[in-house]
Amino acid sequence: MLKHKLLFPVFAVLGIAALLYALRSGTWGFFIATIGVALAVTAWGSFDIRLGYFTTAKFRKNNPPQKVIALTFDDGPSSHTVEILDLLARYQAKATFFCIGKQIEQYPTIFKRIIEEGHSIGNHTRTHSHRFGFLNTAQVIAEIENCDTIIAQFLGHTPALFRPPFGVTNPSVAKAVEVLNKQLIGWSNRSLDTVITNADKIYERVKSRLRSGDIILLHDTSQRSVYAVSKLLADMKAEGYACVSVDDLLNLPLYED
Ligand SMILES: [Zn+2]
Repeated sequence: MLKHKLLFPVFAVLGIAALLYALRSGTWGFFIATIGVALAVTAWGSFDIRLGYFTTAKFRKNNPPQKVIALTFDDGPSSHTVEILDLLARYQAKATFFCIGKQIEQYPTIFKRIIEEGHSIGNHTRTHSHRFGFLNTAQVIAEIENCDTIIAQFLGHTPALFRPPFGVTNPSVAKAVEVLNKQLIGWSNRSLDTVITNADKIYERVKSRLRSGDIILLHDTSQRSVYAVSKLLADMKAEGYACVSVDDLLNLPLYED
């Protein structure tokens, strides 16, 4: 697998060589192409967490011994989380909620219910900044630590699992995760439920790609996600899948302490 640490020096050497050639010859095509490829690879590596370009994330369980999936819900808690919890209880399913600190402050009662009903909690930063991909290491660390503090007030523990907003990984995120000793969690089946507006299409997208061992990315922030989850849970039950938390699926510790 290609890694940032391996490719960056290659791009740097190629870039300098291309620059020297351009300055000497007056021909800039090679230099522009080198920069373009370097930027494209970096952008791709930043936004596809499965590539492990900057740092290694766990994103599915390979060859699980039985039919199993892990549902994960990002960006809550929200008012829609209640219906998700009702569905999970009805199907005796466990899930993992990657919560945003400021959402926990807004919906503390719902957050307590997630914990009380035995679901797993992961860190999804304090504010879920749209600039997350551009934060420096200290800022990423602060985002994660501030979320940890809020979660620990309710949970009594600091979560070990972290999912970056938008699934972004870059050198700042890689360093922060290393410093804070977090386990990065990605996904292998993305619902696109914040992009696709048709609830049936969200369900069909996840269903058509489903493989045992998948970590499914959903958001407990909309009615269409609730609908898709209701159909998925009914299917999973009919097909004999167990719905477990990410820490159970991957046999990982859930807390740091
Ligand atoms: Zn998110």
